[in-house]
Amino acid sequence: MTYKPQCDYHIHTKYLCCADSTMEIPAIVRECERIGVTTLGITDHLNTLDNLDLHLLIKEDIEALDTKTKVYFGVELNFTGADEQFAYNADVREQYGFQFAIGGIHSTYLNAYDLKALVDVQHRHHLKTCCDPLVDVLVHPYWFNKYEFDNNGWPCFESMQAVPESYARELGQVARETHTAIEINACANLENPAYSSQYVKEYIAYLTIIAGEGACFALGSDAHNIQQLGSIQTAWQVAEQLHLTADRIWQPKSPCQMKLLPDTSGTRTPVQVVDDA
Ligand SMILES: [Zn+2]
Ligand SMILES: [Zn+2]
Repeated sequence: MTYKPQCDYHIHTKYLCCADSTMEIPAIVRECERIGVTTLGITDHLNTLDNLDLHLLIKEDIEALDTKTKVYFGVELNFTGADEQFAYNADVREQYGFQFAIGGIHSTYLNAYDLKALVDVQHRHHLKTCCDPLVDVLVHPYWFNKYEFDNNGWPCFESMQAVPESYARELGQVARETHTAIEINACANLENPAYSSQYVKEYIAYLTIIAGEGACFALGSDAHNIQQLGSIQTAWQVAEQLHLTADRIWQPKSPCQMKLLPDTSGTRTPVQVVDDA
């Protein structure tokens, strides 16, 4: 029987203005239940440490829920600049009780359009994300902010053929070695109106190469309004297309989450995972 993931680990809310006013915790959970999601994670942005207290409003609303649906309190991290770090650390995780972290690059960090440099910068930050022991999931590889391109008058990123196969293989290997899940993201990649059906086809081929290297995958809608939550089903379909078994689908506190430091010495050091259930 085909495994049905029934999870969504990338959802935004209204609390930090990441999403619109429809995205309140009880409404999100109701809609997820209607769609058939049994486990979900709320992951609003943490770009700087200034708004951390706003995340606690999300945590309070999760704790007040009366539901059989498992709801996790997560966070989405962004780099503070090109080749910089994430604004996140173990103390913040402990103090605020984040149960998992997803993260990735949200800018080109380029001053001028250069397709090769564009892809190289993304790839470098993908690997850097995987090697961060506090990040469980690399979000939306090769999603680009359309506004950044439009504002600069740059041509759209429209083909995954710009990404060398060796980059996909290397990412799959590093993700497997560091136990970082690669995200299959519905709204940013698979159903993004900025991308053609050809891009989506190529994107699934890219994910297939990563899967061939033994990486695990996380599934996320990246919904910013209540209607978008249903898009998670597209991510589930892609997981099915990739023939991912249950052990290849990341869940918080699953073996996939046992992050390992990058292997620089020939011996691997497991990073302690705090169980704050
Ligand atoms: Zn993002
Ligand atoms: Zn997001």
